Amino acid sequence: MAKARVGLYDVSGETLRRTHLACPKCGPGTFLAEHGNRRSCGRCGYSESKSPPPAKGKGTKA
Ligand SMILES: [Zn+2]
Repeated sequence: MAKARVGLYDVSGETLRRTHLACPKCGPGTFLAEHGNRRSCGRCGYSESKSPPPAKGKGTKA
């Protein structure tokens, strides 16, 4: 089942789940834009780096 992102919210059942983080400077009403390896706020210019994914050192690739 494909997971489609519609708008800023992912509505599942009656639960409204945030898929974007809110800007720590602007408050919960403003969301950060998702980029490749960072997020940024288009309102105040705040940006933060995404934490790098865990190293794929598990198992050996044949
Ligand atoms: Zn902001």
